[in-house]
Amino acid sequence: MKNLLNFSLTASEIKNLSQTLISKSRAVYDQVSALSSDRATFKNAIIPIAKIEAEYSVASANIYFPQYVSPIKEVRDASVEANKALEEFSIETDMRADIYKVVLAVAEKNEELGPEDKRLLEKMLLDYKRNGLGLNEKKQELLKEIKKKLSNLAIQFSSNMNEDNTTVIFTEEELEGVPADYLKSLNKRVIDQKEYFVLTMKYPDVFAVLKNAVNEETRRRMDYSYSTKCKANLPILEEAVRLRRDAAQVLGYEDHATFRLETRMAKTPENVFKFLEDLKNKLTPLGEKELERLRQLKKEHLESLGKQFNGSIEAFDFHFYHKMLMEKDYQINEEEIKEYFSLESVTQGMLDIYQKVLNLKFTEIENKNVWHQDVRTFNVIDATSDEVIGQFYLDLFPRDGKYTHAACFGLQPGYIDVDTNERCYPVAAMVANFSKPMEGKPSLLKHNEVVTYFHELGHVMHQICSKTKHARFHGTKVERDFVEAPSQMLENWCWEPTILHKLSEHYQRKGEKLPSETIERMVKAKNLNAGLLNLRQLFFGFYDMKLHTAKESLGATKLWDELKENITLIPNPHNTWPVASFGHIMGGYDAGYYGYLWSQVFSADMFFSKFKNNVMSVENGLQYRKLILGPGGSRDGDNMLRDFLGRDPTVDPFLKSIGYNK
Ligand SMILES: [Zn+2]
Repeated sequence: MKNLLNFSLTASEIKNLSQTLISKSRAVYDQVSALSSDRATFKNAIIPIAKIEAEYSVASANIYFPQYVSPIKEVRDASVEANKALEEFSIETDMRADIYKVVLAVAEKNEELGPEDKRLLEKMLLDYKRNGLGLNEKKQELLKEIKKKLSNLAIQFSSNMNEDNTTVIFTEEELEGVPADYLKSLNKRVIDQKEYFVLTMKYPDVFAVLKNAVNEETRRRMDYSYSTKCKANLPILEEAVRLRRDAAQVLGYEDHATFRLETRMAKTPENVFKFLEDLKNKLTPLGEKELERLRQLKKEHLESLGKQFNGSIEAFDFHFYHKMLMEKDYQINEEEIKEYFSLESVTQGMLDIYQKVLNLKFTEIENKNVWHQDVRTFNVIDATSDEVIGQFYLDLFPRDGKYTHAACFGLQPGYIDVDTNERCYPVAAMVANFSKPMEGKPSLLKHNEVVTYFHELGHVMHQICSKTKHARFHGTKVERDFVEAPSQMLENWCWEPTILHKLSEHYQRKGEKLPSETIERMVKAKNLNAGLLNLRQLFFGFYDMKLHTAKESLGATKLWDELKENITLIPNPHNTWPVASFGHIMGGYDAGYYGYLWSQVFSADMFFSKFKNNVMSVENGLQYRKLILGPGGSRDGDNMLRDFLGRDPTVDPFLKSIGYNK
């Protein structure tokens, strides 16, 4: 097996490598561009591009990955810098009119091609068109101008959010209910000899109040401060929506959503609206029932304080009463549960499950070529044929300068080398930040960390099990609204009582499993207020889609107010503009927010129809590997899904999974 990754590059080597990589790639494109239209064929034009793309993909991992994981600051900095050069180069390449001309000439020849080659050619052509290369010069200029403005607006929007320093102050009395430990961590201010706690608009502060503060007025003030910050973002959003519409129309699309969805599994705005509408109709009765329960709880609570209840649940009530209900009905104690999930037992159990279900064999190997001594390396082979499939790394503990979230990095794609006809094997890394074991105490995972672990290793499996001809389609390079579905499906194992039993073992009391009564409560608690919570997700999805299909401005806050109450069943407080802090809408999720629910619905369909009754089914696991993970992006998501399910996908399993009964 060839692993071409090199993690011992110095800062200057990274810089040099990026320069040689860029000039080498550019030379290939130059060569292709020199082909006259009548001489250009798939073999002499497209294959060289596919080949350099694959090579580039591996080499660029050596350049960009160190910024996330290298223990050496100098190397991380060099990686950031070198990556900028790569990004600039990739924009340059995407905008090459000379290459577009050659690709177009090849396409017009209509050569007889295999399905993946055909798709490669189509996708290349489509990318160029979507970048405006099919337009006349004047329109191209216009498009460039709009894109530049849009990129500036996005920077401005997020900088306004980052720079925001809104604070709100409360007395200790007003903060009744907020844990004392938390109060200790806050800054204080004295005004007229009275002491106040200063709270920022960062999530931990906001939720500490919204979840815990008994005083309704305190929660209302916190919510109001949060929902009225970043006012300067309102005109920015309006402008961006207008420019996105303009850009789409210059390219010949009806609106921005139509443009965005062209390359997604959903394909058209109509499909997305139909999906959202259908879910809304089914979730609304469930949400209403849940809301009634919250009202009842609020009434009891207020009466116990000797106060009147006016009959409504407000935006600032939800988290507080949700938490109260969680404690009252389910008594979930995260700290206690954690003691049953040592990293060691979870890792062992999880690797076991993935090996069995996907019919793989993992072997941990001694490996000196890693970026840090904590990193573990595993070889993967097919359990039946012993065929080598790939390799993955686990880098699980925090350290200075390391990437702070959990993610999968597909470092080396799998593909077939056109010169040797040999398969190159994929290599992927899972990077996370679980607490490090200490003297006498192992690393313990909260249940949501166990879920994250399954999820990210799921992406790794997608990388490892994918078997495409071209690197461009490898692994997770699927339609964006499909990329989470395979991993989300694997999360379901973390909610199965038999699996939780298998994964758990008390870290001190060897052999003691998580009590089944606790497991039962955990599984039930998962669906607490699932109707309302999903309606909230639906609201964001609707809002985003309406905004980006409108023929003219709908007014960003006006639309928000209208849809919020109608869909979430909880009104938006008067004279607030939470949309000014809705980062997703400017941060790449435009006409894409629906994707969260979309992939969840399909992941539930896969799990419930194929695994729910037999979570360790090797037969279905193999089908999953072959039909969902294997093709990567070389097929459309909806076709893969239909083949795997043997029918059209439906929302029913998802609804069932969140406790909805018709
Ligand atoms: Zn993911």
